[in-house]
Amino acid sequence: MSKGTYNAYEIAQAQFDSVADKIGLDEATRELLRQPMREYHFSIPVKMDDGSVKVFRGYRIQHNDARGPAKGGIRFHPDETVDTIRALSMWMTWKCAVVDIPLGGGKGGIVCDPRILSEREQEQLCRGYVRQLSKNMGPFQDVPAPDVMTSAKHMLWMLDEYETIHGGRYPGFITGKPVGMGGSLGRTEATGFGVIYVLREALKKLDIDITKTTASIQGFGNVAQHAAKMYEQLGGKVIAISCWDNNDKKSYTFRNKGGLNINALLGITDSFGTINKEKAQELGCEILPGEAWIEQDVDILIPAALENQINDENVHKISSQVKVIAEAANGPTTPEADKVLDERKIFVLPDFLTNAGGVTCSYFEQVQCNMNYYWEKDEVLQKLDTKMTAAFNAVYDLSVSNDLKMRDAAYVISIKRVAEAVKNRGWI
Ligand code: NAD
Repeated sequence: MSKGTYNAYEIAQAQFDSVADKIGLDEATRELLRQPMREYHFSIPVKMDDGSVKVFRGYRIQHNDARGPAKGGIRFHPDETVDTIRALSMWMTWKCAVVDIPLGGGKGGIVCDPRILSEREQEQLCRGYVRQLSKNMGPFQDVPAPDVMTSAKHMLWMLDEYETIHGGRYPGFITGKPVGMGGSLGRTEATGFGVIYVLREALKKLDIDITKTTASIQGFGNVAQHAAKMYEQLGGKVIAISCWDNNDKKSYTFRNKGGLNINALLGITDSFGTINKEKAQELGCEILPGEAWIEQDVDILIPAALENQINDENVHKISSQVKVIAEAANGPTTPEADKVLDERKIFVLPDFLTNAGGVTCSYFEQVQCNMNYYWEKDEVLQKLDTKMTAAFNAVYDLSVSNDLKMRDAAYVISIKRVAEAVKNRGWI
């Protein structure tokens, strides 16, 4: 999934190196943490519906498990690369550490395009993936979850294979399961709501009244939809949303300067997060080019679609009115653009803090599974809010006391926590 010269792993390592320098991390810890501890690369042969056999490549990468079992999603994508999975596994380590949950970082993937595979073929892929890793994953080793183009049904097939091999019920093996089959209430909302809990706290610190703010969002999938709902619930006004249209093979921005009606838009959005253009016009939306989301005169920008979306080509188009960028997507800002945002004193809420609500709720799911006792939705969301607020405050306080950018402060906290775990275990 790396595009052109953009290599997520190089960026992840560069970010790590710069903070390791700042905190004077010793050589051995630095060497341990700047690369994954374990990598599994393997082939999965699948008997296809037409009788032929196709061999798929699968990966599972465990960056670090000093603070607890590795945790991270499994992606299905035709352009998946080992380097992207390495970077994402590293970011998972920092993400779990910054919200202070007892988990490490991992990520996995299969190079495949599920859009052209039958349900049976996808099931065989899921089962084959688990067969390859049955001794290397588990509730106390490495806990997978859904990611790009994988969902609750894939998690259940994987769980079933794992339980068949190990001869028991191990619902804590995997998260993102359907509610009623070991899934947690609130998991669907968790990432988007978490983004807004963090944004709400940031606005308080900046002395900005959320009810007087406007926002523009890139993406209208799971994360963006719930972020928009919670932001609207707290009194903010979303005036622009952009999303991808797979028929036209391009993106559009839907704008209403008076404020978009999120519930109405949800009613005309398909399961891939694409808003229907004709119906949106009937609702009074202007239809603008996809890139227009970034140029709006708003107080808040929320990139919630893809990586690499705020870059040196478009960062200068950001309006002087923008005060906060809440990174809901993973890696939406390139290091070059980040420098410009810093010079312009735009307050950036870094991705691995801002979108940590999803993994935090996955952790709650694992806890509930291991107890075999499930919480009410309000309880889940309350616990989520408490965790996200505490994480934001810790990062903010460090950024103020040590005059650091929020991203660097978040890295300092995470790297120090993981380095301490590594040291206390006697690894270094
Ligand atoms: P999704 O697939 O549900 O939605 C993606 C949205 O982005 C869709 O609305 C799509 O139309 C839009 N999009 C795609 N290309 C676009 C483009 N070029 N311009 C504008 N819009 C475009 O994905 P999601 O689960 O909402 O995840 C979004 C981001 O958040 C990803 O970076 C993901 O890694 C990250 N994230 C997700 C979770 C989670 O729990 N789902 C957790 C942490 C981080």
